[in-house]
Amino acid sequence: MRIETQCLHEGYTPKNTEPRVVPIVQSTTYVYDSTDDVAAVFDDPTKSLIYSRFENPTVMAVEDKIAALEGGIGAMCTSSGQAASLCSLLNICQSGDSFISASTIYGGTVNLFAVTLKKLGIECIFVDADASEEELRNAIKPNTKAIFGETLANPALAVLDIEKFAKVAHENNIPLIIDNTFPTPVLCRPIEHGADIVIHSTSKYMDGHAVQVGGVIVDSGNFDWTNGKFPEFTEPDESYHGIVYTETYGKAAYIVKARMQLMRDFGCYPSAQSAFYLNLGLETLALRMKQYCENAKIISEFLEANDKVESVNYPGLKSNKYYDLAQKYLPDGCSGVISFVIKGGRDTAVKFMDSLKLASNEVHVADIRTCVLHPASATHRQLTDEQLVACGIDAGMIRFSVGLENVEDILDDLKQAFAAI
Ligand SMILES: *Cc1c(COP(=O)(O)O)cnc(C)c1O
Repeated sequence: MRIETQCLHEGYTPKNTEPRVVPIVQSTTYVYDSTDDVAAVFDDPTKSLIYSRFENPTVMAVEDKIAALEGGIGAMCTSSGQAASLCSLLNICQSGDSFISASTIYGGTVNLFAVTLKKLGIECIFVDADASEEELRNAIKPNTKAIFGETLANPALAVLDIEKFAKVAHENNIPLIIDNTFPTPVLCRPIEHGADIVIHSTSKYMDGHAVQVGGVIVDSGNFDWTNGKFPEFTEPDESYHGIVYTETYGKAAYIVKARMQLMRDFGCYPSAQSAFYLNLGLETLALRMKQYCENAKIISEFLEANDKVESVNYPGLKSNKYYDLAQKYLPDGCSGVISFVIKGGRDTAVKFMDSLKLASNEVHVADIRTCVLHPASATHRQLTDEQLVACGIDAGMIRFSVGLENVEDILDDLKQAFAAI
């Protein structure tokens, strides 16, 4: 199936007389014929359902759909994108370990990595998203267990050279984790470029309608966890009757372990209702991504030609530093997110934003409606000036998330706001 078809049909195939639409299984628990049946499921929880803290048929249908879209062998949904980032790493790293991350990533992720994981004894070594192979290699320490980056960074819009990062990760026998939130699998499938694990904040384009916060972790099944660096995968898990994940689950060791250990213990699993909403968004994802890209191309060109604008950052523009990488990794478009710096700095930026009528001020991005945000005073407020620079953010920068309104209406709104400054 092509991706448009996968968006509609993967994950759920009704049989004779079953509901056409994936049903909402609103139940915390499942029943068994006998005590033996219950015992069997505790011996191997992947054989049947136990409890909706970590598995539910509605959520699992969505997991299967997203795994198919990304070309992975399995997926696990989480109650937020933050929970996906956290679990993707805690499934690999423990106290005393380190991992490498590109520094141009989502502000909330910077906080998670630099502050909260540090408290748990896990060190994040930040590197420039444009780091050379040499610089990446030099950053790796004997206790480094993974490399992390965003395909299209929020909000810096840096395009990651996924193949370069994958090469250095694999030379060192560690996995590459890619946050693919902005492109979605419609515009980029990182596994095809060597990523081992892909995560998303599904709160953005996947849900698309700003109705449900969520996240997902997808396992490519390609990483060899038996290479000696990951004893948690190859030695008996005392908390699960001595199961050895790589022996029992083979290629699915990572994603099964994430569910059986982390989801069991943390319980950051979405509800069936949440997954149902996410699925509605996913059904039109391919169609929507195409239109976001078309609208954003027109808006970015308009902004670039405007003399009140100092600079426009959209990797689909020929003038952009990441244009070549975008042609390689995002050939069908760079999503609907544009950032630009208005002449006149912070105060003019704020006046401009307050003059917009159609585009709303939101602490959100990738909404179906056009929305706008000033990262320096909102999402990235907690970062120091130094960290702001490392994230690629100017104090006067505006993040403009192009929606699916008629592009002429978005242009009219921009024109009247420019006239007001
Ligand atoms: C929003 C976002 C997150 C965090 O996701 P939540 O669903 O808000 O928890 C992580 N990564 C990226 C790239 C994001 O845009």
